[in-house]
Order: sequence, then C-alpha cells, then structure tokens
Amino acid sequence: MARYIGPVCRLCRRERTKLFLKGIKCYTPKCSLEKGKEPPGQKEQKRRTKVSEYALQLREKQKAKRMAGVLESQFRRYFHRAEKKKGLTGENLLLELELRFDNIVFRLGFSHSKREARQLIRHKHFLINGKGVDIPSYSVKPQDKIILREKSKKNVQIKSALEESKKRGLPSWLEFDEKKLEGTVLNLPKREEMSIPVKEQLIVELYSK
Ligand code: SF4
Repeated sequence: MARYIGPVCRLCRRERTKLFLKGIKCYTPKCSLEKGKEPPGQKEQKRRTKVSEYALQLREKQKAKRMAGVLESQFRRYFHRAEKKKGLTGENLLLELELRFDNIVFRLGFSHSKREARQLIRHKHFLINGKGVDIPSYSVKPQDKIILREKSKKNVQIKSALEESKKRGLPSWLEFDEKKLEGTVLNLPKREEMSIPVKEQLIVELYSK
C-alpha cells in the first residue's frame, strides 16, 4: 500500500501541532516544534493575513489524516463508513482511526510510534485472539486480545518501546498485562479519550460540500 515516506517533522511544522510521528524524539527537547522551528513556507504565509473557512477545514483534515498515518483515499473511505453509522459522523470517523490495529499496538506501548507499529505488524509480531494478523488497518473490536508472539518477546525494539511507553500511560479503555505481554480492548473509547486532537466537525463540513 502507498504511504508517505517524506520527512515527518515537516508535517508537524506544517500543522503547528505535535503529531508524534517520530517515536522517542517527539517526547524530548530535540523535537523540531519544541525547538521553535517555523512551518515550511512560513514567509509566504505571513504575507496572507485572512485564513478562509476552507483553509481551516482542510488543515483539520490534514492533521487527522497525518496523525493516523493514512492517505487521502483511505481517509475518505473511513469518512464514508462513518457517515453510514449511527451517531455523530465526526466522532465515528475518529473512532475508525482510533481502532486501527497500528494505533492500538502503539497505544498499548509495543512501539515508539504508529509508523513503527505498522512495521511490526507487517513483520507478523502479533496475534489477535490467537490468530496472526499482519494488516495495520485491521479494525480492532472491544474484547479483542492483542498478543505479542512468543518469539517476539525478546525483540529489543519492542522491549525498548514498552519501557519508554510507561511515560505515556495507558488509556482507560485498554488493559495491558505486563507479564503475558498482551493487551485487551475493554470498550470503545469516548470522544475525550481519543488521541487525535482535531475539531472533527470541520472535517465533516469539508467533506459535505
Ligand atoms: Fe513531530 Fe515528533 Fe518531529 Fe516533534 S519530533 S516535530 S512531534 S514528528
């Protein structure tokens, strides 16, 4: 599947928000945003004073898309699925992103970043309910168990991520067994528990034009 392979800190600078795309560096003073680097093309933007409604909607969509690590076509598919579900479309969209397998692996602490989580999943390090799943976009459901394969328990990269993730903490809708190295999705996250800090209504307005 196609994916963005350019410099990721540039994306954070563009959105003026920490998108946490680079692993450990994101949590240190070495982060480009912490160092106060300006967004790319800043001089050009300074000349323009008024920000249009469309520009605001576009930025929120880009932020959500980049933070989740998905491309436009996939993001649109999530939106159309969210539209068909009961409830608020914006919240449904964020829920679709939150329940992606790569996000769950990251939030359980198995990886330093979502990008790294995608790599680990493709390399078949995990089981879901006892079955091997190597699709990062797989949609995880409540009560699913994410299990680290026996042979992967000594993986240095995963061990380092698990240690590092203690600083991030675990969301209340997930449970993690440190001895067995397996996680469980207890229930669907509420809006305030989701990890993508965007104004989702602006995304709905953008796609509803
Ligand atoms: Fe974004 Fe992380 Fe780079 Fe900071 S270090 S700019 S949060 S990707």
